[in-house]
Amino acid sequence: MKKKHVEVWGRCLAVIKDNIPYQSFKTWFEPIIPLKIENNILVVQVPSQFFYEWLEDHYINLLRKTIKREMGPSGRLEYSIIMDNSQLGRKKPVTVNYPATKQRNVGNKPVNMPLDLNRGRSREIPNPFIIPGLKKLKIESQLVDSYSFENFVEGDCNRLARSAGWAVAENPGKTAFNPLLVYSQVGLGKTHLVHAIGLQVKANFPEKTVLYLQTEQFINQYIDSVRNNNQNDFVHFYQMIDVLILDDIQFLAGKEKTQDIFFHIFNHLHQNHKQIILTSDKPPVELKGMEPRLLSRFKWGLAADLQVPALETRIAILQRRLYTDGIKMPYDVIEYLAYNITTNIREMEGALISILAQASLNKKTITLDLARQMIDKFVKNTTREISIDYIQKVVCDYFNISLDLINSKTRKREIVQARQLAMFFSKKHTKNSLATIGLQCGNKDHATVLHACRTVNNLIETDRRFRIYVDEIDKKLKM
Ligand code: ADP
Ligand code: MG
Repeated sequence: MKKKHVEVWGRCLAVIKDNIPYQSFKTWFEPIIPLKIENNILVVQVPSQFFYEWLEDHYINLLRKTIKREMGPSGRLEYSIIMDNSQLGRKKPVTVNYPATKQRNVGNKPVNMPLDLNRGRSREIPNPFIIPGLKKLKIESQLVDSYSFENFVEGDCNRLARSAGWAVAENPGKTAFNPLLVYSQVGLGKTHLVHAIGLQVKANFPEKTVLYLQTEQFINQYIDSVRNNNQNDFVHFYQMIDVLILDDIQFLAGKEKTQDIFFHIFNHLHQNHKQIILTSDKPPVELKGMEPRLLSRFKWGLAADLQVPALETRIAILQRRLYTDGIKMPYDVIEYLAYNITTNIREMEGALISILAQASLNKKTITLDLARQMIDKFVKNTTREISIDYIQKVVCDYFNISLDLINSKTRKREIVQARQLAMFFSKKHTKNSLATIGLQCGNKDHATVLHACRTVNNLIETDRRFRIYVDEIDKKLKM
């Protein structure tokens, strides 16, 4: 006989299935596992926090009605979220009550934040940084659990920064990487990486005090301390920290007073072998509006950059993200996303979420076409440019040959022709120079690319069948 919770959830699913598009059902309801019924509370397991929030945001009414219908007016639903707690190496179920009161802080983060980082709210408390009633100073680290090392995909683009970060986490304050400064353009993983370091320190050394904060928070706290005349408390607070993570220090530019106080905090921490971790959007030498003595401190340790990830790494990042969120998506869609959004991981993840949303809310199946439409919307206004990578892929798919061949030395006629077409379309659709195109299409020189463009143009004029190929590929590229 079927267990009662399985049976009840099965009936709920039947109702839900009739009420929402199939694709949404598949994405958001099929992965749910019923666990038990106790006191007329049905407990179901969902794959992630993101998943739970999505259900709560989009299906709360449907769920409420269905539960009532199948379990009576006193019927209730509770979610159990499997949190992949990599630091502890075990799965930790977290229960969230339903009807939920938008409790977003499940997991092992305390809900209230002892350290008041919101400017201006802490004025009544004499010392804003110590919570009254607590004997031992407890500082909320402000670390986000999902920004773990486990979720940080390794690639050539981040190898140095990642391994330096790992070394720091094994031995905070004791390596040559102090400060560790991670820099890159936006959306390439600085914030994620420094959180990962902080989380790893806490896993390795639970007694150490770790604090992550954005530079703006630091600046605002300092301004408050001046206003409340408790700058000493401010400085003392920071001097007690074992691992200080300050994100986006470029915002210190031009803030002389804050730089001054930070200089003193920095020196104190450094002298006492406490770890300092910084991020910025530029290498230290290019940071403007910084006091020279502070800049020179930044150069004491290691400055490591994060670069734009290569295609395989971008695919791996998307897959990782889908995996942690417990969502399935066709591989060709993932690949398409990774091919087309090349400069910024945050943008790529944004596109991923839009596709999920579109599919789920507008009764659409997640297909390559849907992905194309979304990406167009997403990147049209920015710097969308068809990439050489993508052109090569479309040409190879069209002729059904493997990508390796087009970049190999082979002189087989059909391969040469495909290579020439890839060069021709790269010239037509990208802003790359002939030399760059040549380099990326089988390591050829600019003269070869020029020759390829001429050949293709000639063939278009003389060979009708060839012209049809070109038109069809062109259409595919613009889709
Ligand atoms: P930055 O601070 O450099 O602007 P973020 O750390 O906010 O960038 O990263 C943007 C998004 O990309 C985040 O969601 C982050 O999790 C993701 N991300 C960046 N690098 C990686 C990586 N190597 N592996 C997995 N996810 C990554
Ligand atoms: Mg950031």
